[in-house]
Amino acid sequence: MAYDTNNIFARILKGEIPCSKVYEDAHVLAFNDIHPQAPTHILVIPKGAYVSMTDFAQKATAAEQAAFFAAVGKIVAEKGLDADGYRTIANAGANGGQEVPHFHIHILAGKRLGRMLPEAA
Ligand code: 5GP
Repeated sequence: MAYDTNNIFARILKGEIPCSKVYEDAHVLAFNDIHPQAPTHILVIPKGAYVSMTDFAQKATAAEQAAFFAAVGKIVAEKGLDADGYRTIANAGANGGQEVPHFHIHILAGKRLGRMLPEAA
């Protein structure tokens, strides 16, 4: 899938749409989800144009990949989420339920999140 340069996270990165910023460095931006599914719901995105986890894993530089996962760790530590626990989710493609085609990880915390997936239908 080709990267859509006008997807909503690309527009946030360009400064065309505001966000509630949580963290930023040279390679990474993190901000609060606009429709939080838990008391803490943070989205972590690379600044580079990658559609999905696959795209990021295959094309991002080692520096970008290291910065991304280091940022997740820094945010979890900064927010004190390790004590009670948290969940990370990266949706990809249609079956994964990905709505925004710019790679991102959700960090969810602040309540018991229940089973990882609903019971199979
Ligand atoms: P996905 O389903 O692609 O993994 O998740 C996309 C997430 O982006 C959703 O949780 C949705 O609430 C969030 N989102 C969509 N548009 C915006 C926006 O304009 N700002 C912010 N902060 N989050 C958004």
